[in-house]
Amino acid sequence: MTLDQAPSTLPRSLHEALFIHALDGVLITSADGRTLGANARACELLGRTELELVELGRDGIVDRRDRRWREALETRAREGAFRGVFRLRRSDGSTFPAEVSTATFLDGDSPRAYVSFRDVSTAEAEAARVEATTRRAAEVIDSLESISDMYIGVDADWRMTYINAQAEARLGVSRDEVVGKDIWARFPALLGTVFEETYRQVAGTGRTATFEACYDKAELWCEARVYPLRRGGIAVYFRDVSERRAMEQERERLLTAERAARAAAERAQRDLAHRATHDELTGLLNRAGMLQEVDRVLAGQPEARLTVAFIDLDRFKLVNDSLGHGVGDCVLSEFARRLAALAGPADPVARFGGDEFVVVLVDRSAEEAARFAQQVIGASREPVEVGARLLVTVSVGLATAAGPAELDILLREADAALYRAKDTGRARVVWFDEQMHVESVRRVEIENDLRHALDGDELLVEYQPAFDLRVERICHVEALVRWRHPARGLVGPQEFIPVAEETGLIHRIGERVLARAIEQAGRWAHLPQLRVWVNVSPQQLVDREFPARLAAQLDRAGLPTERLGIEVTESALADCSGVREVLDRMHDRGVAIAVDDFGTGYSSLARLKEFPVDVIKVDKSFVHDLGTARGEALVAGIVTLARAIGAHVIAEGVETLPQLSALSALGVDSASGYLLARPSAPEHLPLTIPTEASFRWRAGLHPTVARVAGTSWSRSW
Ligand code: C2E
Ligand code: CA
Ligand code: CA
Repeated sequence: MTLDQAPSTLPRSLHEALFIHALDGVLITSADGRTLGANARACELLGRTELELVELGRDGIVDRRDRRWREALETRAREGAFRGVFRLRRSDGSTFPAEVSTATFLDGDSPRAYVSFRDVSTAEAEAARVEATTRRAAEVIDSLESISDMYIGVDADWRMTYINAQAEARLGVSRDEVVGKDIWARFPALLGTVFEETYRQVAGTGRTATFEACYDKAELWCEARVYPLRRGGIAVYFRDVSERRAMEQERERLLTAERAARAAAERAQRDLAHRATHDELTGLLNRAGMLQEVDRVLAGQPEARLTVAFIDLDRFKLVNDSLGHGVGDCVLSEFARRLAALAGPADPVARFGGDEFVVVLVDRSAEEAARFAQQVIGASREPVEVGARLLVTVSVGLATAAGPAELDILLREADAALYRAKDTGRARVVWFDEQMHVESVRRVEIENDLRHALDGDELLVEYQPAFDLRVERICHVEALVRWRHPARGLVGPQEFIPVAEETGLIHRIGERVLARAIEQAGRWAHLPQLRVWVNVSPQQLVDREFPARLAAQLDRAGLPTERLGIEVTESALADCSGVREVLDRMHDRGVAIAVDDFGTGYSSLARLKEFPVDVIKVDKSFVHDLGTARGEALVAGIVTLARAIGAHVIAEGVETLPQLSALSALGVDSASGYLLARPSAPEHLPLTIPTEASFRWRAGLHPTVARVAGTSWSRSW
């Protein structure tokens, strides 16, 4: 059978339609696979003539490597038809996918097969393309879902096209709800923020942008990367950087705190340095600052001539004590201000503590220095307004060195000159001179030797009696310290007590004398009315531990406290800071208190009443003035005063009989002095007034009383 011949059962027209004009390739084959006929389309698709196809048979057309053929032929044999896609071979050896449908029929008695096929290579390619696209999209989506960033895709019309799971979770929205929605309508919080600005900019310019901002709505700090999309719209990747931001902020906070702490430490350091070199009250340099400053000046001008002005406010203690420390501070500050204004810009000005000021004048002539000192005194004469108008003068000591000099030495010299200025009447300027030099050297020597004296046993105590003027018997002894210097012999207290007070050695000396006096008083136990008086320096009195130590010493010696008295100078009372409390405590224990050198200081009656005073000692200068009207009036006044406060009066320094008579007539209770007895070793203590000084004896009174008393005392002595 050929294709031109229609099977007898088939009408000719149908044969043509199915076969000759069919758009698919059609082959008629025998059961064993020989080609019996092929239409034009089959020849075209396979690239062969019908004759070639007839000769080739099935094996020349199908791709024999394709196993499915066999299964297809078996299916067809079993079910009569089959459809599938197989690869067919062209004449040039290339193959193409073809959808093949085949069915068997009988041509008369002969089994035949009808095979129709069409090239599906384009459909297959399309399907493959679709599949690949789908796969790629799935991959993209996969990766968008697997990244840790949030992702939002927006199209050219600002409609959201995609939002990944991270973004859903973090923004609290669901994909179905937002995809397709206008981003500005759905997230209005973005409007007017850097988000909107950047999105629009990327969409407009087509350039990528990165920024970091907080999406307040979700309290989300994010780092956003915005990419333009080729087809319009943008892709936004966000990363939650809240933690990093928090860490950065924390770090920033710590850094700021650390910077602040460092700044505070530096400030404190500067403060400390300033405080170490400056006086807090006046803002001037202190001693250390002054030394530093002078070193600095000398480093720049090694040949500079230095002149030191040592300045001290006259009677400042009085201002402080009577008007209070507040007023005292005002006076000091005001004076410091005036002093600084007078000094040159290169002249260091310092307060050395208390009311001592020092100015170092750099490269000034002696005349200039003296003029400066006079100006300082002049400035101090201007009253200070402290509620009232206060007048405080100053004294100035000057010292200079023509060549290079050590500041230490100049300071010492100026200080010595200042002492002289004070000694000789205050509100004065005094230049240091050689005599002062000798004195100051001697002071240094005394200090050194005194330390030795205390370590060894060079100090001794002499005792001077005072006698009751009515019965002319001993009633007091005063302990007076002496120093048996190995080279200089016996040195009096006037010479070394001031040095001891300047250097603080007075505490050790005072303790030593007290111990000796208490010991000695114990040996005089047989003279029960006898009180031993010990001189106590003002410095000892400001020591709050002093009463307790004294009490312990008395306890140890087993001495009744009323056998001891202490003598304090008027000036010690003027320094009232704590002194009254110390005196009260001792007085409460029974220790008697005497005001020494009365009349030479500044105590007023009012002042005296504040202190527990048992005895007033009239200074010897008044005693020596007796015989003049003024002298007698003064002593009479002191006696009246003493009576007013219930104190006894002892006159000191009695050297003549008229003095003794006058004192007796003025009602003075007791007296001491060279006329009666010089200070001596304890074993030489006289118990009665010497005969030549005895009033009773001179008055022709029977001396029995004195003698009887004297004898009985001598016996027990
Ligand atoms: P003061 O307390 O006024 O002692 C009296 C001074 O007058 C003593 O001098 C004494 O020897 C002296 N004197 C006694 N009678 C006469 C006299 O008729 N005419 C003259 N011109 N002088 C007489 P001294 O022993 O040289 O003591 C001087 C000062 O040293 C004492 O003056 C006292 O303030 C102080 N002093 C003495 N011993 C001590 C002590 O142990 N501690 C302290 N802190 N100061 C003491
Ligand atoms: Ca005394
Ligand atoms: Ca005295």
